[in-house]
Amino acid sequence: MSVLCTPAPDDLPPPPDLTRLAAMLSRLKLTAIRDQLDTLLAEAARRELTLAETLALLCEREIARKDERRIEMALGLARFPMVRDLAGYDFGAQPAVDKQQIRELATGRFVANGEAVLILGPPGVGKTHLSVGIGRAVITAGYTVLFTPATALIAQLVKAHAEGRLEERLIHYCKPKLLIIDELGYLPVEPDAAHVLFQLVSRRYERGSILLTSNRAVSEWGSVFGDPVVATAILDRLLHHSHVLTIRGESYRLREKRRAGLLGTTGAPSATRAPSIARAARSPDAPPTPPGVS
Ligand code: ADP
Ligand code: MG
Repeated sequence: MSVLCTPAPDDLPPPPDLTRLAAMLSRLKLTAIRDQLDTLLAEAARRELTLAETLALLCEREIARKDERRIEMALGLARFPMVRDLAGYDFGAQPAVDKQQIRELATGRFVANGEAVLILGPPGVGKTHLSVGIGRAVITAGYTVLFTPATALIAQLVKAHAEGRLEERLIHYCKPKLLIIDELGYLPVEPDAAHVLFQLVSRRYERGSILLTSNRAVSEWGSVFGDPVVATAILDRLLHHSHVLTIRGESYRLREKRRAGLLGTTGAPSATRAPSIARAARSPDAPPTPPGVS
């Protein structure tokens, strides 16, 4: 019996042909395992891993590489206007922002549930920063995201409508799991534009999430859209399952300038300053007459 159990040296499996193994891993698209084969096998031997543990180690590396690639690609497709993340958001400077609520949003659960997020507040308080940070976290959580300034989105929809391609554009904007529409309200929305925007919002309703930032309180949306009926119809869908963050307080940029001694204490450029300094202190993307959030 013992002869049967103990293979003769000739019966031992041949040493693995790593070239052949690498070719098979390529064919299976297990490129992380292929590229790190030597080190992974050495690590498994050093840690005296069982076969199952070795297999788990290999799978973990492959999944980690695939996740990295997916995140990198999704970040490119999201078209964020700036590189920002939630770790870089100074919550101490903005007590109106509930860190716990942002953490919850960062899990991406609201996307899984098809809920909307509205971030409202005056210019410079970090609405775009938070929307990009949440968008990145949502990508890491496994979803697709598209960021678009409200003006560009509306212009695209109106143009497509005029060219008879609205359906195609609506499909495009319905594809990502999360659509971030930034800075609604800086420019008034024409009635035709409001109507196509309504079509988009109602098509995504309960199917895909929208994160929308605005410098205008929802009570002012009637005037933003120039049509209270369309504004109410849009809000009705956005607010049904929603998280609303209202940020009050002063612009982060102005706060920084004040700290640097460039401004007085009111937020307005100091009257005694030279005009060039006052110009430098003005927020570059602020509208001519920044309205607050009521
Ligand atoms: P908003 O969209 O509300 O006008 P932004 O998100 O564009 O404001 O913020 C303006 C600038 O200030 C950005 O560079 C942003 O990163 C920064 N900023 C705003 N608030 C904060 C904050 N609380 N912590 C760190 N940076 C901030
Ligand atoms: Mg902004």
